[in-house]
Amino acid sequence: MTFVKRTELKMFDGRQIFYYDREPVERSAVDTRPVEPRPLPGEMRQDPLTGEWIAMAAHRQGRAFLPPKEFCPLCPTKTDFGTEIADSTFEVVVFENRSPSFSAPSSELPAEVIQASGRCEVVVFSDQHEGSFGSLELAQMRTVMAAWIDRTREISTLPYVEQVFAFENRGEEVGVTLNHPHGQIYSYPFITPRTSKMLQVAQDHYDSTGVPLISSIIAREIKDQVRIIAQNEHWIAYVPFAARYPFEIHVAPKVFLADLAGLSDEVADAFPEIAKEVLLRLDGVFGIQMAYIAAWHQAPVRVGRDVLGLHWQITSIRRAPGKLKYLAGSESAMGAFIMDVKPEQSAQQLRDVQL
Ligand SMILES: [Zn+2]
Repeated sequence: MTFVKRTELKMFDGRQIFYYDREPVERSAVDTRPVEPRPLPGEMRQDPLTGEWIAMAAHRQGRAFLPPKEFCPLCPTKTDFGTEIADSTFEVVVFENRSPSFSAPSSELPAEVIQASGRCEVVVFSDQHEGSFGSLELAQMRTVMAAWIDRTREISTLPYVEQVFAFENRGEEVGVTLNHPHGQIYSYPFITPRTSKMLQVAQDHYDSTGVPLISSIIAREIKDQVRIIAQNEHWIAYVPFAARYPFEIHVAPKVFLADLAGLSDEVADAFPEIAKEVLLRLDGVFGIQMAYIAAWHQAPVRVGRDVLGLHWQITSIRRAPGKLKYLAGSESAMGAFIMDVKPEQSAQQLRDVQL
């Protein structure tokens, strides 16, 4: 049984902050920064050409951009500079984003505005300024998982949220604006385009076979062997059959689950080890820190719970030292990906890394 204690406190402007601790620590640090009003929700518009929703988050332009360590808002508060986290030490912390792309609906906006309702949270992986998810100790990674599980479970109860998306960006190449190890949770008032598409394919597969699509995919990977990177009793990591990026890895539980909230302690306990291995292999390919996006795909809150399976997708845009894959004409304008590396080849490169 994995014990993680959650303490909920309030930030200076009323936002919620949650501390997750492996030990039963008492947390009561008060955020003493001067009160300021929180931004109103942004507007959301539907693209008339595709039907896709676009969130207009104009208030995000003033965000901190790669601040030096002494002004890092994700470090614990140790000096007169009040960071987002009032305590002087912590293990894992989650708080509501100060400049959210999606936030709780407000009655202050005119009725004709379609509000970007939802919730955006920041997940701080450590009180140490350097590192990323893969560089944490296994027990610390497990605490991050406990936070992901808890937040998915709780955010899924909000009536204006349709989908919960936990992710980590690493590297300035993929738009990271804070170096401190952290991830985010975006919760949308709609089902995102990629999830809608996956949902349709997964539903069709389930209707014709009675098996969740991810289970059939895993069965194929086990049969083919060539794209598997790592596995343990509960998880399997592989380069997907039709990868879109030079280094793309999926990590899925071997037994179908709709979302993080459904993870048992036993299955969750087995994740940090394989996650660490996969991320070490990724960095080992070229011997440099790879920029990546690590994304938790899970079923939407209200639909597709029997068909869309939880999996963790890591994509790196690096194709060689000094070379990035840019989303060029075909990818950006048409959504049609062209891949320079065969998935079987990148799987071999990842397996060949000496750990
Ligand atoms: Zn920091």
